[in-house]
Amino acid sequence: METHLEEDRSFKFSPSKLGVYQNCPRRYQYRYVDKISRARKTPETVVGVAVHSAFEELYAFVTGGRTPALDEVQGIYDREFAAGWDATVVEKDGRFAKDDWRKVGSDCVELYYNGHHPFSEDRTVAVEKRVGFPITVDGHEYRIEGFVDRLALASDGAFEIVDYKTAKSLPNQEHADQDWQLALYELAVRREWPDTQEVRLKWHYVRHGKTLISIRDDVARAKLLADAGALISAIKHDHVFEPRPGPLCDWCEYRDLCPVFAHPIKVAALPPAERCRDDGVRLVESYVEIEGRRKRLKDELKTVETEREQAEGELADWAEAAGVATIAGESAQVTVTVKEEVHLPTKTGEAEKHAELEAEARKTPLWAEVARLDGHALLEGLKARCWTGELLAAATSLVARYGHHARKRAVRLKRRADSDEA
Ligand code: SF4
Repeated sequence: METHLEEDRSFKFSPSKLGVYQNCPRRYQYRYVDKISRARKTPETVVGVAVHSAFEELYAFVTGGRTPALDEVQGIYDREFAAGWDATVVEKDGRFAKDDWRKVGSDCVELYYNGHHPFSEDRTVAVEKRVGFPITVDGHEYRIEGFVDRLALASDGAFEIVDYKTAKSLPNQEHADQDWQLALYELAVRREWPDTQEVRLKWHYVRHGKTLISIRDDVARAKLLADAGALISAIKHDHVFEPRPGPLCDWCEYRDLCPVFAHPIKVAALPPAERCRDDGVRLVESYVEIEGRRKRLKDELKTVETEREQAEGELADWAEAAGVATIAGESAQVTVTVKEEVHLPTKTGEAEKHAELEAEARKTPLWAEVARLDGHALLEGLKARCWTGELLAAATSLVARYGHHARKRAVRLKRRADSDEA
């Protein structure tokens, strides 16, 4: 795989930008490091933006002292939807027409409007408010910034950070309690209004008419800040931006550039006659043929191994019964030896017994004699950021002093669903 020596020069990070890195560093690279812009949006994005605009204007009116009728808010939504639905909209399948999508958002507006009219449950402080705070990472100062859909003051004096979601899926409470976008905004709100007591994070899932609320404590806020700092540090130290394929690839606007998808996309667009002349296609087909032969040989070897084991058993039985150690044949002779061996439980074979044995051994001075360094665990622990403080410093120093870099390439064959041998 081609190695990119890229560097992120960002100074500002929004929660969604951090989320892109978390989901796929390569997508982050294309969007924020290489700054490759793609004029491409999904119907869901058009609906979401139009619903947000309608609610933004609705609350601007309410704050100004006038509550618009539902028709008026629907009119704003329709206007924004029409403006957003342009040639750059990419539909994943043709099952829904433009008007079906328009109705999805229109229903969201109606459900929310009827559920919250006359909009007096709280007082809007701001809509689409930019919030942010500085964060020091590895001795450098950055900013975390973003836009709150609506910031409100509830009747009990609590701040409410409100987010509108037009997604089809309705997450559960656990998901809400783990979300960190609004939680980062809370840190900004608390900084802006230091005497703030309670802050509620509130998501309106407007397709379902359902509201989720999450409240974070001091411990959760401290952890969030540390996690955000660690993520920024990881971005700043990343020079490779590995692709991380996953379910979100279906919505990725950079599939044609991504090393995971670029060649299959290019090949799929070729006429069949040209396809088989492509060097990559030829290499894969040759590899498929080799893999096929390898598999046949492996199967054969397995059969031979079974036969061999059986023959060895028969020979050992015969030698034992005949009271001999060597059996003569015509072209060769076979010697049978019998040895008693002790086997200890292994980590993979008998995990529980192995752990018990290790615990017992640790209690004895023998441990210093038989314990071995687990280099794999050291590298994996470092990669997974298992340690902090002294342990992290020790692990980093050992790997820096004794580790050597080697480029490891792996090739994995995945048969296409329509292939004969799939
Ligand atoms: S297609 Fe998937 S793996 Fe490739 S950049 Fe996009 S999200 Fe990452």
